[in-house]
Amino acid sequence: MFEVILGLEVHVQLNTNSKLFCSCATSFGEEPNTNVCPTCLGLPGALPVLNKEAVHKAIMLGTALKSQINKKSIFNRKNYFYPDLPNGYQISQFEVPVVGLGELTIDFEDGSSKTIGVTRAHLENDAGKNIHAGDVSHVDLNRAGTPLLEIVSEPDMRSSEEAILYLKKLHSIVRYLGISDANMQEGSFRCDVNVSIRPKGDEKLYTRCEIKNMNSFKFIEKAIKYEVNRQIEAWEDGVYEDEVFQETRLYDPDKDETRSMRGKEDAADYRYFPDPDLLPLVITDEMMEKYSQIPELPDEKKERFVNDYKIKEYDASVVTASVEMANFFDEMMKEEITGKNAVTWLTVELQGRLKETSIENSPITAKKLAEVVKNIENSTISGKAAKEVLDFLIENPEEEVEAVIEKLGLKQVSDDGALLSMIDEILAANEDKVAEYKSGKEKMFAFFVGQTMKASKGTANPQKVSQLLKERLS
Ligand SMILES: [Zn+2]
Repeated sequence: MFEVILGLEVHVQLNTNSKLFCSCATSFGEEPNTNVCPTCLGLPGALPVLNKEAVHKAIMLGTALKSQINKKSIFNRKNYFYPDLPNGYQISQFEVPVVGLGELTIDFEDGSSKTIGVTRAHLENDAGKNIHAGDVSHVDLNRAGTPLLEIVSEPDMRSSEEAILYLKKLHSIVRYLGISDANMQEGSFRCDVNVSIRPKGDEKLYTRCEIKNMNSFKFIEKAIKYEVNRQIEAWEDGVYEDEVFQETRLYDPDKDETRSMRGKEDAADYRYFPDPDLLPLVITDEMMEKYSQIPELPDEKKERFVNDYKIKEYDASVVTASVEMANFFDEMMKEEITGKNAVTWLTVELQGRLKETSIENSPITAKKLAEVVKNIENSTISGKAAKEVLDFLIENPEEEVEAVIEKLGLKQVSDDGALLSMIDEILAANEDKVAEYKSGKEKMFAFFVGQTMKASKGTANPQKVSQLLKERLS
């Protein structure tokens, strides 16, 4: 029996307006090599100047992860050659990162949770991009120098499930903080996974392989499963020493396998040394005070929703999974509706109708959806009618809820007088059935309710109808 050991390195591209060490724009999708200057092109004599906004965002994340913030951290040069790296080194942080030891708690579906250690988070600049076209390759340096925050976890995860929960939680925190768009397709949230195995009960760590540069939760999960199996099979076949070494591997989603890319470098290979062009990063008390202000995080929101809106833990975790959804829900609750109904109408009725569209692009506002729910709660319309109202609103988002109810003729009749005259007519027309009911055939009651609902074209309030029928028949 084997135990799986997983550690994650996540690269988050910070959404600052300009790059980490120069004032070039960080916008995505521009003409190649237009957002560049002597500094990010690595021209001789150009000097880096640290972007304060990136430091601010790093400290926000550190605060969210309850991390120790280092008052003084150092920028180092990490030396290697690659065509997309014009300086011949990356500016990163090595011994002393800006964000030190912290933690992140993951929640399992059964309600249990586990705390994963976060070793550090450090600032560094991104490389450019090599674009391969046929037998030539191009280099686009627009991305070179954009700020990254690399968040390194302890090897605390024991399954691909835990790794994905960790990543989703981190992704959500980053989005709540608003420090990155964390768009995975565009690579602003990407991840390297360190995978190793050991016989259960063994304390020592065995050789780890690093699967590099993945940006889809689905592929990360598959890559981990493949790699774990590969290592276990090698162990069981007695060829572990020959087949598992410290190396960098790439996951190929088409073949669903990981492949060796290159031997994994040790820190010594990079010849790290302090960048002589940059002063140590010193965080003053004022900076700390100002930068550690952060908005409400998913866990806090969840707790508040459970306490204030009286919804279930599980429902709370569904509506706080993304910051957009949580804000939408919060907005709905301003209309003073029942939490449970708000959850259903948001996550089942509205989301079911939006399909692929995400909640931030919903054609109808939180206020309008809440008004629909309110109209059910005060018996103005039935639940069934509310679905019609919602369908109509999605097609005609500029319409007002009250006007739609009026226009579609869905208002429930709760007025005693109107209902009683309907009921009396029905009872008079069905004297034989009334007699059957009175002689003990209680099933006939449902027939009278049905007839009344039909006569009202579904607009009668069913509770009211039952109540009045009982009075009339007793
Ligand atoms: Zn530049």
